[in-house]
Amino acid sequence: MKLTVKPLKQKDAGRRLAAIDRVAAEELELSGGDYIRLEGDSTAIARVWPGYPEDDDTGVVRIDGQLRQEAGAGIDDRVEVEPADVEPAERITIALPQQFGIRGNVGSIIRDKLSGQPVTQGQTIRFPLGLGLMGGGSQAVPLKIASTQPSGTVVITDSTDVDISEKPAEEIAEASTSGAESPDVAYEDIGGLDDELEQVREMIELPMRHPELFKRLGIEPPKGVLLHGPPGTGKTLIAKAVANEIDAHFQTLSGPEIMSKYYGESEEQLREVFEEAEENAPAIVFMDELDSIAPKREEAGGDVERRVVAQLLSLMDGLEERGEVVVIGATNRVDAIDPALRRGGRFDREIEIGVPDRDGRKEILQVHTRNMPLSEGVDIDEYAESTHGFVGADLESLAKEAGMNALRRIRPQLDLDAEEIDAEVLDSIEVNESDMKEAMKG
Ligand code: ADP
Repeated sequence: MKLTVKPLKQKDAGRRLAAIDRVAAEELELSGGDYIRLEGDSTAIARVWPGYPEDDDTGVVRIDGQLRQEAGAGIDDRVEVEPADVEPAERITIALPQQFGIRGNVGSIIRDKLSGQPVTQGQTIRFPLGLGLMGGGSQAVPLKIASTQPSGTVVITDSTDVDISEKPAEEIAEASTSGAESPDVAYEDIGGLDDELEQVREMIELPMRHPELFKRLGIEPPKGVLLHGPPGTGKTLIAKAVANEIDAHFQTLSGPEIMSKYYGESEEQLREVFEEAEENAPAIVFMDELDSIAPKREEAGGDVERRVVAQLLSLMDGLEERGEVVVIGATNRVDAIDPALRRGGRFDREIEIGVPDRDGRKEILQVHTRNMPLSEGVDIDEYAESTHGFVGADLESLAKEAGMNALRRIRPQLDLDAEEIDAEVLDSIEVNESDMKEAMKG
């Protein structure tokens, strides 16, 4: 059955789940925990997750960025979904990242935590629980499946033998089905900005993926989009997520850095960045703190600014109108930007990225605690409620700090002089209510 791909909710990401419209699931005779094959340009195996009520009878399958990449399908693409038989794994070999620094029975912990998950050789798994704390809180540990027995896609069960590979994860080839690295930032890693993401997708993703649509309608895809709002609200995150979602080349330019160059070098660097982007198109050029490159002419009036603005304008005017290279500018001082840069054909679309509300804060907290072992008692709603005025970056710090507090609390039990830390001790750590409360004070 063909279903339309949509993003997964933030809290469900990273676990190879596919939330299928419940009406479609019934037709396919699927229930929670069953395995399915998703076929886009390539194939992915996922586990069925109860569909969200709002998706009933819409023909939607929700999967996260990693599965979208493996299945070779973007949001709004149609994929073929069918039940899949997945054999139990007799044995799997897992490769750990080079700088893992953990000893002990990692294999059995991994087996317990990943029981029921479908895996394929070459696949990267972001290991979501206790051990993730070593990465500084919200980071998951990326493990690689070095081999499986039998081969193909298999499911980890309680009786699977889990071996640890001699080779580090970095030396294991990626799964051949996807050929692509798992994305750094997916839409599921962004909380509270659904409407804004929808706008960004319409302005950037749609023209890049379907240029023929725009040609047919005679509409010019945008060359520049301006994201404006306070620092730490997710502007950079959005730009990266869009680039990842469409597999576009991504380049960052920082305004202040450009302006600090020697005479003539700023223009040179701008030129180089645009050249590289065009060579690697589709590409996104992200210009952070755009206001410092291009202040209103009367405001700065400096010779350098004038020349840099002129250069940027001419580079943007020179971009072909196929929507293959898009410049995303970010600023927290939208009024300080040279009006010439905001005219048609330049940064002529604007999206405001504001401070998140309660629901937004909850989603952001879910993103940043997704890979944390939270104790039963920790109620995310409570923290969403009591963090009025916090932006995404503040909420990320809060989660990280809570993770650090948990580590400090168990430090006496860890033998920090040893080169490696015992996996079982590490796995027993939880981030509890007092760790969170303490972090709130900070
Ligand atoms: P900006 O570009 O708006 O200054 P960033 O996108 O660089 O902000 O955000 C900094 C960090 O804060 C991000 O890497 C992310 O961890 C966190 N963050 C910010 N906004 C969000 C959000 N909406 N959802 C999840 N995390 C966020």
